[in-house]
Amino acid sequence: MSRIRKKADKKEGSEELICSVKETFLLYKRAILLWRQRAGAMFLFAGLHALVKAVNPYCALYFTARLLNEIAGLKRREELWKWTLVILTVTVLLSLLQAVLFRAKTAYESVQWNYTAAIYASKILNLDFCTLDDPGTGELLSRIRQTEDWAGHGLVKVYRHFERLLENFFQILGAVALSVPLFLAKVPQSAGEWTVLNRPVCIVVLFFCMLGAGLGNSALDKKVFSYVNRIAEEEKFGNRFLGWILDFGSNRKRAADIRLYEQEKAGIACFQSCHMFDTMSPQAALFKGWGGLLRALSALFPGLFAGIVYFYVCLKAWAGAFGIGMVTQYIGAVTALSGGILGMLTVLMEIRANAFYLRELFLFLDIPNDMYQGSLTVEKRSDKKYEMEFRDVSFRYPGSEAYVLRHVCVKFRVGQRLAVVGRNGSGKTTFIKLLCRLYDPTEGEILLNGINIRKYNYREYLSVFSVVFQDFQLLSLSLGQNIAAAESYDGERVRECLDRVGLTEMLRGLPRGLDTALGKDYEEGGIAVSGGQGQKIAIARSLYRDTAFMILDEPTAALDPVAEYEIYSRFHEIAGERTTIYISHRLSSCRFCDEILVFREGSIVQRGSHEELLAEKQGEYAELWNAQAQYYVR
Ligand code: ADP
Repeated sequence: MSRIRKKADKKEGSEELICSVKETFLLYKRAILLWRQRAGAMFLFAGLHALVKAVNPYCALYFTARLLNEIAGLKRREELWKWTLVILTVTVLLSLLQAVLFRAKTAYESVQWNYTAAIYASKILNLDFCTLDDPGTGELLSRIRQTEDWAGHGLVKVYRHFERLLENFFQILGAVALSVPLFLAKVPQSAGEWTVLNRPVCIVVLFFCMLGAGLGNSALDKKVFSYVNRIAEEEKFGNRFLGWILDFGSNRKRAADIRLYEQEKAGIACFQSCHMFDTMSPQAALFKGWGGLLRALSALFPGLFAGIVYFYVCLKAWAGAFGIGMVTQYIGAVTALSGGILGMLTVLMEIRANAFYLRELFLFLDIPNDMYQGSLTVEKRSDKKYEMEFRDVSFRYPGSEAYVLRHVCVKFRVGQRLAVVGRNGSGKTTFIKLLCRLYDPTEGEILLNGINIRKYNYREYLSVFSVVFQDFQLLSLSLGQNIAAAESYDGERVRECLDRVGLTEMLRGLPRGLDTALGKDYEEGGIAVSGGQGQKIAIARSLYRDTAFMILDEPTAALDPVAEYEIYSRFHEIAGERTTIYISHRLSSCRFCDEILVFREGSIVQRGSHEELLAEKQGEYAELWNAQAQYYVR
C-alpha cells in the first residue's frame, strides 16, 4: 500500500468526521493565511460589503421608527418631510455603496477557482516525481477535487464562511444597538400589574429563549452535517463516476471504439445501476428520511422565538412603555438579533464540518519532498564531455519488495551510441528513470563526472539530458513554442532542428509557419499532426535543447518504414557529439549503436556490438533477434 494512502487511511480511520474545535480553528487559520497570500483584496472587499449590507436595513429601521412616531404623534409637516428625506438619502447611498462593494468582491470571486487551481498546481509541479507517481497521491488529490466539485467543500468554503461570519457579526452588533432601548424603556406605573414587564427576569427569560432556539437549531443542524459527512465517501465515488460517464461520451479518443463496439450500452447500463444521481441516491435518501425531518425541526426554533419577541414587544407597547413607531424598530432588531445569532451558529457548525475536508487538503499540501537535494552546479562544457556511470545499482519501487534492477554496472563513454534492449518488464524504462533521477537507487550509486548525482542541484543535473519518451506530450501551442518548450524561440535554430528530423517539407506547407498552432482545440487555424509527425517534432524538441545526453525511448515506433529509415540513416548527424541512449524493440535499428545492453529481469545479461551479440547463439539477444527475424525471412 502506498505511503500517502496509508497516511490518509490512518487519519480517516482514527478520527471523527467532525473535527475538534481546536483543530478546526487551526485549520481555518491556516486556510485564511493561504488565501490572504493570494487574494487579500477579495477578503477586504467581502468584509466591507458585509458591514454595509448589515448596516443598511438597520438605518432604514431606525429612521422609519422616527417617521412612524411622528405620524402616530404630532404629525408635524416639516418633521415628516425631514424623516422621509433622511430615509431616502441614507437608503439610496448605502444601497449604492453596497452595489459598488458587491461588484468589487464579485470581480475577485470570479477568479477564486484560479487561485485554488494555482495552489494545487504549484504543489503538484514541485512534488518529487516518485511521490507523484505514487497512486496514493493521485487518489488523495482526486478526493479533494471531487469534494470541491461536489459541494464546494474545502478552500473555497473558507472564504464563504469568512464572509457569512462577518455578516452575522455586524448584524448582531447592529441589532444589539437598536434593541437596547427596548429593555431600558419602562412601562409606566399607571399600567398597574403590567409593570411586571419592567422586571429584569423578563429580559433573562427572553435571553434564554433566544439561546435555547439557537442551540436547538444548531444541534439539529450538526446532526444533519454529520449524516452528510458520513455519506461523503459514497458521494465522492458517485462524483468520480459522473466524471467518468461525462468523459465517456465526449472523449474524442474513445469515440471510434464506442461506435464500433456500441460501448454506450454498457456505459448507460452501468450508470443506471449506480443510483447515485436519482431519487435513490444516498443524499436523496437522507433528506427524504431523518435528514429532512431534522432540517424541518431545526427551522421551527427561529419561528418560535420570533413569536415570543412579537408578543413581548407588543405587550410593552400596549402597556405604554413606548410609542407605536418603536414597535417596528424593536421587533425588527430583536428578530435580526436572533437571526444573526442563529446564522452565526449555523456558520460555526458548517465550519466544523468543512474542517474535515481542509484536513485532507493540508494532508496533500504537506506531503514532503523526501529526495535529497544537492547544491553542486554542473560544470558547463561546450565539448559535452560528461561521463556517467551506474555503479552496482539495484532498485525497487517504493512500497514494493521486488527488485526491478539488480547490480547494474554501466559506464557511458563520451559520445557513445548505446542501445538498451530487452523484453517487456525487463527494467529498461526504470533504468532511464534512474538516470534522469526521477527515482534514487535503492542500492549503489549513479555518478556524473565521478560525483554522485544526488549532490548536484536537480535542475542543473536535468539540464544535461534531453529525453524523447514513448508517450511524449506536445502542447496546444505554436510549433516553434513546442520545439523550444518556451514562449519565445530562436526561429533559425528551430528550423535547423526541424530540418534534421526531416520536417522541412511539412513546415513549408504550414499556413503560419512556425507560428502555426499544434492541435485544433484552442486555435481555429491549428493543425492536427499525425503520430509520426508528432514523434519527429518531439525529437526536434530534444535537439533544440542541445544537451550532452540524448535519450530516445522507442523513437520511431510511430514512423512509417521510409521515415524510420531516414531517421536511422541520419542518426549520426542528428545526434552529433551527444552521448545517446536508445531503447528499442526493433533490434535491426540497434546496428548503428556502438554498444548494446541486453536487460533481462532487471539485470544486464549481455553487452557488446550487434555482431558480437549475435555470435552468442544461445544468448538473449540472439533469441530476440531470431524471434523478430523469422517474420522477414521467407
Ligand atoms: P520495460 O521498460 O523494460 O518494459 P519497466 O522498467 O517499465 O520495464 O518495468 C520493470 C518492472 O517494474 C515491471 O515489472 C513493472 O511492472 C515494474 N514497474 C514499473 N513501474 C512501476 C511503478 N511505478 N511502481 C511499481 N512497479 C513498477
